[in-house]
Amino acid sequence: MTAKILLQANNNIKFTTEACILKTVESYGAIIAFSFRNGGCSSGPYESLNFSSAYGDKRTCVTRNLRIFSDHLGIESSQIITLNQEHGDTIVIVDQIPGTTLAGDAIIAVNSGLYPSIKTADCLPILIIDPVKKISAAIHAGWRGTVLRITRKVVLTLVNDFKCNYESIIVALGPAIGLCCYEVDQTVLKPLFSEIPWAEKFTAQADTDPQQFLTKRRLDLVAINHQELINLGIFPENIHVVKMCTSCNRDKLFSYRRDGVISGRNIAVTGFRPVGV
Ligand SMILES: [Zn+2]
Repeated sequence: MTAKILLQANNNIKFTTEACILKTVESYGAIIAFSFRNGGCSSGPYESLNFSSAYGDKRTCVTRNLRIFSDHLGIESSQIITLNQEHGDTIVIVDQIPGTTLAGDAIIAVNSGLYPSIKTADCLPILIIDPVKKISAAIHAGWRGTVLRITRKVVLTLVNDFKCNYESIIVALGPAIGLCCYEVDQTVLKPLFSEIPWAEKFTAQADTDPQQFLTKRRLDLVAINHQELINLGIFPENIHVVKMCTSCNRDKLFSYRRDGVISGRNIAVTGFRPVGV
């Protein structure tokens, strides 16, 4: 039996009923928040702060939940930008609220008052801000996005296209399925090790592979993306990790692996408050 990752105290992170919030960025007028499943109006498998109506929950409940969460953060729900996520590596760049829901797996917002978001239930949400340029980004990094190097591509876009400096960039890695619970087979391992050979050191023996045939491994998505950020030159002290496994924390987080497709989705939101607000 593997040790489970449970809630860990961290002076930089504030835990409320509805969210964990990175306190250290508040002085920049920035928001970095990852939702918990409590305090919303959905019921059944979506109980209660669910952010997706794609799996059977009522659209009216999801809209109300988004309002509850945005009120909690002190922002307008209409300014939260969502994507039709595809497990790809398309980066959507926004300078205003899009008129329609765009497709992709990362959002870069170049203005204040825009709040990029990502919905997950085990995949890793990564939120990035540059307090100097007032640019924010949200990334959906499941295993496919990780293999496609989506985190690296977003950071390089920030640096090359928007002239962000590596030393200014602050990153938060949110709740995701942990090494404790994320067993994968060759479908994942083969493309992963082919693209990122060093990822092998962030795996462990699978519980269901006692003979160590190595056809299955447990995978640490958070550690791989963390290492990707370090390799790029992001300062270690500017990388914050929530350290919560979605599958282990049933009372706080939705998990696809644990609950199946008919369940809720968590949301991760970042951005800068408009000046003077
Ligand atoms: Zn776990």
